[in-house]
Amino acid sequence: MFCKSNEELDTLVNDARKVASLGKVADYIPELGKANGNDLSIAIHYPDGNCISAGDVERKITLQSVSKVISLALVLMDRGYQYVFDRVGMEPTGDPFNSIARLERANVAKPLNPMINAGALVVTHMIKGNNVEERFQRLLNFIHDIADNRKIGYSTNVAQSEFETAYLNRSLGYFLKQHGLINEDIEQLLGLYTRQCAIEMNCLDLARIGLVLAMDGVDPSSGKVIIPVDVARICKTFMVTCGMYDASGEFAIKIGIPAKSGVSGGIMGAVPGKFGIGIFGPALDEKGNSIAGIKLLELLSKKYRLSMF
Ligand code: GLN
Repeated sequence: MFCKSNEELDTLVNDARKVASLGKVADYIPELGKANGNDLSIAIHYPDGNCISAGDVERKITLQSVSKVISLALVLMDRGYQYVFDRVGMEPTGDPFNSIARLERANVAKPLNPMINAGALVVTHMIKGNNVEERFQRLLNFIHDIADNRKIGYSTNVAQSEFETAYLNRSLGYFLKQHGLINEDIEQLLGLYTRQCAIEMNCLDLARIGLVLAMDGVDPSSGKVIIPVDVARICKTFMVTCGMYDASGEFAIKIGIPAKSGVSGGIMGAVPGKFGIGIFGPALDEKGNSIAGIKLLELLSKKYRLSMF
């Protein structure tokens, strides 16, 4: 085991926390603005069931963009590779996560990848179910299976707060509808998307999800395949190429772990074949990634040579 004790993690967390004051909590979703920028916690989940942690790991956070990896896995299982990638691309953008610019420059207004908001809206649109409630419950049940926790729910406050202020995502939605990539009511889709982003869990759950991806989709405690190996592989590849938005290249060079961040300050990491990581540090850098969370991963990756490259 690479890092055995909570004390080892405590030291790294205290070092990484020093940069938190350089970041800023996201406030474009008003509810997220209430977070404490100094918070930093981490959990690491090993396949043998062992878990180590530092900081307030019981604190719940909303998934925000971390949820994009899970909704992608679900629609790949629902619809298959061809259907999904006919509607959303595989290339990193080099643009901010909420950018609309490239949609207009593309020949077909197909979003470049499922980790940017435009792509994630198309992905959420593809979740199967007879109505919005059923689609949301299917996503939530899938998350219950991966995290092995049936208590996970969502924050109605955060969902409502984003729904009321999601002007940019609304524009993306209507643009995509105009171009035939979405054919449902945009308000309805935003209701589903904002609930997806508001799914709430602690770092231990987040690390458990990372672990299942790290183990190629297999639940290490039951041996059950929760995510088919090819789907898990696609998810991890997107985490490397697009998981940290337009900071993914630098992240791959400095840290080299498949990871996905969200504007709530969450980061979910999957160290292939080894363990899952869940981090919460709500102060963000200018690209929208947890500033202390990235520092912490950098310290961990250097100390224990975690880069996969
Ligand atoms: N719910 C957020 C949004 O759509 C998710 C973005 C993110 O975490 N980067 O703006």
